Amino acid sequence: MKRIEDSARYQNALERAESGGRTLLADGRSFSLSFDPGIEAEYLEQRSALLLTLRRYVVVLGAFLYACFLLNDALAGARYQHAFNYWMVYGVCVPVNFLMFAATFVERLHPFISRLAAFVAMANAMALSIAGAVNFQSGHAFPLEVLLIQQLYNVFLLGLLTATAANVVLFNLVLFAVPYWLSGMPIDVLIEHSFLLGTSGFLGLIGCYLHEHTDRLNWLRCRVLKDLAERDSLTGLFNHRIFHQRGALLLRQARRDGIPLSIVLIDIDHFKRFNDQYGHPAGDECLRRLATLMWTTTRRPFDVAARLGGEELGLILYGTSAEAAMQRTAALFSAIRNEVFPGGARVTASAGVVQATHGEHDFGDLVARGDESMYRAKAEGRDCIR
Ligand code: GH3
Ligand code: MG
Ligand code: MG
Repeated sequence: MKRIEDSARYQNALERAESGGRTLLADGRSFSLSFDPGIEAEYLEQRSALLLTLRRYVVVLGAFLYACFLLNDALAGARYQHAFNYWMVYGVCVPVNFLMFAATFVERLHPFISRLAAFVAMANAMALSIAGAVNFQSGHAFPLEVLLIQQLYNVFLLGLLTATAANVVLFNLVLFAVPYWLSGMPIDVLIEHSFLLGTSGFLGLIGCYLHEHTDRLNWLRCRVLKDLAERDSLTGLFNHRIFHQRGALLLRQARRDGIPLSIVLIDIDHFKRFNDQYGHPAGDECLRRLATLMWTTTRRPFDVAARLGGEELGLILYGTSAEAAMQRTAALFSAIRNEVFPGGARVTASAGVVQATHGEHDFGDLVARGDESMYRAKAEGRDCIR
């Protein structure tokens, strides 16, 4: 049942977002850029994984540009430079960008990459503001345009969420105003430059918002479509196509790793009679409840529970021998026998359990063997596992 509820949550969220056009949250708050907690976590994880490679190249580009700016200043002559700038750019900006580059190769750090990107943006902002203020105080040129370009990089290229980018813009503004004020910049000049920096940050944030809103909406659409394409709408179990697709992949993986893989094919006994006696809606409810029991049987991340057609269900149990699969199916069957359906109805089922052999390459062959076992169970009186 949980799977159907999950799918419904995504569909509801999409309907809300598309009808209101503005809100992605269940509470209907306008302009908010966040999903409800369960969905949000999944979005952030997938977004971060998608951005990983792009971010890796962006920070190299960033480090390169910082180095170029400084080289450009050095070539332009001493009037642009205070030695402190070198320390800030080569000591802070270039290393933190490379730190992030290195972190993208360390899998353990992947969950922290987004936070690291925010840290990189803030470190960049801090280093250039302080360097610029020292430059200004010592009578050298004031690099407002460099700060504006840097803000563009921080807000758009590091892949920050809009909320994080807003914090970076604010941080940048405060970090600009305080050191320059301390370095003796006249207050009217300080206000004018703060205004320019603030305006460019604000416009950048609007761009960020529009981009993130579209990205979230499209992600949600894809998420809903993925569910529709992979799952059976009545039970929420995976459909026939995914059963065979995942099965072929898992069979290959199991053979490569020398791990056992078993499948269980289940067919409800006398289900036509059940429908005739209790009605089709009761039959549907029965299928939904069996699906919930099936989910509890699939414990490992690679396990698959599917509805293969009408009242035929299938399990792929990764890392499970035929004996262990028999035991788990027996536990499932006793749960099915104990379940009381609408009108006091009860059902039983028949199952075929087979383990992939070493020489078995084709998942279709394994399913065919499972079918034979299941038909044997039917022929031998039903309500049994073969
Ligand atoms: P057996 O023990 O030999 O498997 O008998 P059976 O009646 O279960 O098998 P049969 O293949 O003759 O009938 C399957 C029945 O399953 C027919 C159909 O009414 C029912 N069925 C298939 N899909 C659904 C569904 O989505 N909802 C409901 N309520 N019933 C369904
Ligand atoms: Mg059948
Ligand atoms: Mg049947």
